[in-house]
Amino acid sequence: MKLNICHLYPDVLNLYGDTGNILCLKKRLEWRGIEVEITKLPIGASADFTQFDLFFIGGGQDFEQEVLLSDLHNGKSNEILAAVEDEKVFLCICGGYQMMGQYYLTHAGEQYDFIGALDMHTVGSDVRTIGNYMFKCTDLSGASTVVGFENHSGKTYLGKNVSPLGTILNGFGNNGEDLTEGARYKNVFGAYCHGPMLPKNPGFADFILQTALSRRYPDAELPPLDDGLEISAHDYMVNRLEKQSPVSG
Ligand code: GLN
Repeated sequence: MKLNICHLYPDVLNLYGDTGNILCLKKRLEWRGIEVEITKLPIGASADFTQFDLFFIGGGQDFEQEVLLSDLHNGKSNEILAAVEDEKVFLCICGGYQMMGQYYLTHAGEQYDFIGALDMHTVGSDVRTIGNYMFKCTDLSGASTVVGFENHSGKTYLGKNVSPLGTILNGFGNNGEDLTEGARYKNVFGAYCHGPMLPKNPGFADFILQTALSRRYPDAELPPLDDGLEISAHDYMVNRLEKQSPVSG
């Protein structure tokens, strides 16, 4: 068995160790004897998107998001839309997550028109939402508790054609108002979760990998791993956050 992973915009979208998600996905597949190939697709590069099983997009500040707009609308946006509708798996973090929506109105008043793969938009605020946070994924997305770090000015509002990825237990999430965090549409998973997200959330990492594996190999099941260290790191943060006031937003 083999999975092909595409790392979109590794040259500009990589905050707070987001690229660690790629390492985590790779190792969790290799530890199970599943072959994995990673293709990096920076600004200006093109590829046949139909060959990929899983896409990863990291976070970036407003500046980086603006830098890649012309490349996005020079073909990649349409390729991404087609891959989403083809139920390929996407993990998109913060700036990369915002990019999957319709637009981002920055706090400076500029509008970036994005991909529109997800029925959502983002509005910049003068106050940044920053800190360690935690949320519980919906049943549709595996029901695990996810811990991480958020730092964004954008407030994201979901439309009726997209579901939240989870419910905020501590922190701000999408907008600090409705207790939602992230988005789930077909096999797209978006979240504000830096850290990087996957290494200390092994349950969620495997949910994503299983989704990608099942799409290509319908009968394949991921064998369990010894996640003792990962679970200790996860539980340490859960305990720390549980001692703080529940919602900062
Ligand atoms: N530019 C976005 C914001 O500040 C995303 C930031 C990020 O990716 N951490 O809202």
